[in-house]
Amino acid sequence: MLLFTPGPTPVPQNVRNAMAKETMHHRTPEFEAIFEKTRKHLFNLLNTDEVIMLASSGTGAMEAAVTNLCHNTLLNVNSGKFGERFGKIAKAHGLGSVEIKNEWNTPVSVEAIVKALKANVNIDAIAVQISESAGGLRHPVEELAKAVKEINPNISIIADGITAVGVERIDVTNIDCLIAGSQKALMLPPGLSILGLSNKAIEKIGEGKGYYLNLASEIKKQKQNTTAYTAATTLIIGLLEVLESVEANGGLSRLYGDTACRSKAVSRALEAIGLKIYPAVPAKSMTTIIDPDASEIRRLLKEEYDVNVAGGQDHLKGKIFRINQMGLIPVHEMAWVLNAVELALSRLGRREYNGEANKIFSEAFFGALDGFKQGKNG
Ligand SMILES: *Cc1c(COP(=O)(O)O)cnc(C)c1O
Repeated sequence: MLLFTPGPTPVPQNVRNAMAKETMHHRTPEFEAIFEKTRKHLFNLLNTDEVIMLASSGTGAMEAAVTNLCHNTLLNVNSGKFGERFGKIAKAHGLGSVEIKNEWNTPVSVEAIVKALKANVNIDAIAVQISESAGGLRHPVEELAKAVKEINPNISIIADGITAVGVERIDVTNIDCLIAGSQKALMLPPGLSILGLSNKAIEKIGEGKGYYLNLASEIKKQKQNTTAYTAATTLIIGLLEVLESVEANGGLSRLYGDTACRSKAVSRALEAIGLKIYPAVPAKSMTTIIDPDASEIRRLLKEEYDVNVAGGQDHLKGKIFRINQMGLIPVHEMAWVLNAVELALSRLGRREYNGEANKIFSEAFFGALDGFKQGKNG
């Protein structure tokens, strides 16, 4: 079965092998050396002043970011399930909560953020997804962060990059906390989350809040290449292998280039066979299609063509399907998926199969990739 859900994503064989070694004790020079190397790679990946790894799923990092960086009222952007979660976290901790809610295909506008800030002077942190996975949407995080900092530089910007870090280069100039998670773009099993922090965020964190998710305790320890509590050793060993594989495959710029070209080419190919892209501004992390036959298409993909793609949740259940674009994806696998979608449409009597999706995909992908290579490598 080809796993093409936008999280979890497949774990490459070499990464599984690296994680299959005997358990290593976390308080040893051997593990500290691995931790140090991983941290170096993470600084390169996130471009932030500090990086922290937590033994938690992505939501743990979201909670740590909110509790440590919001001391009064959180403004969260809800264009989907993950954005909504930030508001729930704020409320669970008794923080003030203001939400901007949109349909799941609609990115937040910078104007709406500015308006909400002006209406509530207690807002001291903003939480938003870079890529909102519920509808495969890209929010204008960099632009809104810039606008917010011009109004008040003390308002912390928490950017959930769980389906964006490792997908595209993110300008962190005005971002205080950038979150990543293991089982999405980082091609690992679930259970590890990462926070990139600005110096301004570290200042605001001060002594930190909470116990297990106290970021001050972790910052102190992780600077010394260890963790406050038992490190997720196996996942960190896997993460180092992932980041070394990315380097060995042409580095981050190659990964971002491939992802951008593939993502665009898949959208073109699916549109060419009559499908409709759901989000107004699609994220590069996944291709989201809105279709009345979404459930049937997913069933056919799974039962007839061994492809697992994700559906929708809540009000989008049975209405959308989402194809992963995160990670090191072999082109022939993507080609298989596109053929499978076209074949599924043919089974449903919606079009005659003629290989159109793959023709368009190949032209768009290889054409763009070649342009990218010529631009990059002269
Ligand atoms: C998956 C996801 C999360 C939640 O991460 P968990 O690892 O499931 O806790 C948060 N934000 C985004 C954008 C996600 O895609």
